Amino acid sequence: MSAARTGGCLCGAVTYRVAGELRPVIACHCVQCRKTSGHHVAATSAHREDVRVSGEVRWYRSSDTARRGFCPVCGSNLFWDGPGTHLSIFAGTLDSPTGLRLAGHIFCADKGDYYGIADGLPQAAEDDPDLTTQVPCG
Ligand SMILES: [Zn+2]
Ligand SMILES: [Zn+2]
Repeated sequence: MSAARTGGCLCGAVTYRVAGELRPVIACHCVQCRKTSGHHVAATSAHREDVRVSGEVRWYRSSDTARRGFCPVCGSNLFWDGPGTHLSIFAGTLDSPTGLRLAGHIFCADKGDYYGIADGLPQAAEDDPDLTTQVPCG
């Protein structure tokens, strides 16, 4: 068991509470994550049943299999919702301390050309289920 953790958007209109375990943080460098975040996404994930959201989340369907949730007031990117049992939560929206660590990078083949990845953590060219246990981003 882990203590409940909380988070929310920049303006406070959307908040959430996670009662269960959170996955280590994975950075995703795919084009969709880069576009939606302005750089790359760093996300944890939690079982859907453990996440309670307050406030209105607007959803953008970014592919046939996934949608992205954001605050309609301030635009903060909060969630990636795809197939499977877990909801991805953008780690920067968690309240500190998160107790989490970055564990690796996925979709590195699609990363922007203006930065390098030099933290020594595992890098996957595309999706890596060992890192994410999730389906590819969309
Ligand atoms: Zn907001
Ligand atoms: Zn991505």
